[in-house]
Amino acid sequence: MPYTPYHFGPSGLVGLAFRRWIDVPVFVLANIAIDCEVVIDWIFQPGWPVHQTSHFHTLIFGAVFGAVYGAAMYWIRPLRIFCESSMGWFGLPYRAILSKMIFAGILGVWFHLAIDCIHHEDVQIFWPFRMDNPMWRYAVGPHLEYIAVLRNWVVAGCTTSWAMLAVYYGWLIDIFQVRKQRMQAARKARQQAAGESSLAGN
Ligand SMILES: [Zn+2]
Repeated sequence: MPYTPYHFGPSGLVGLAFRRWIDVPVFVLANIAIDCEVVIDWIFQPGWPVHQTSHFHTLIFGAVFGAVYGAAMYWIRPLRIFCESSMGWFGLPYRAILSKMIFAGILGVWFHLAIDCIHHEDVQIFWPFRMDNPMWRYAVGPHLEYIAVLRNWVVAGCTTSWAMLAVYYGWLIDIFQVRKQRMQAARKARQQAAGESSLAGN
């Protein structure tokens, strides 16, 4: 992906849809964690293919990295607090659970890879077994006929996901608001009933 924020659209959408099993902030922020590889490349190995410096953009080492990253998001207290407060800012219910965060870290990295590997030729997704990128080869076509439009397709897909995420988030917030109002009304009714029964008892 040309810029990491493009990934937030598809990741946010998938993360929110499967929030029961996936830790949403860890899943979305995995995009930033994995793209640290690009920064590492710029600093330590300028000129080298940007997705090959530390092997974060690979299925096997990416999973190890994702698991460590997910655990770090739980164990490093300020990061865990950030996850909790960020979900609070968005008005979404949240509880930090270690296993869920590790799972989200691995899946978040793999989901990032699924997009990157069809967009960037230098992603070695099957490293150390293969040094090339068969997914990109397949996406550009046997005679590289789709090479010019491939970037536009990926960007269009990510932008559409961003729009879908905005709609889905609005709908979710609406549901949570309605649920909250219903719970408040039920609590009020219970309190009233308890008050009336205690009055009747007197
Ligand atoms: Zn990347």
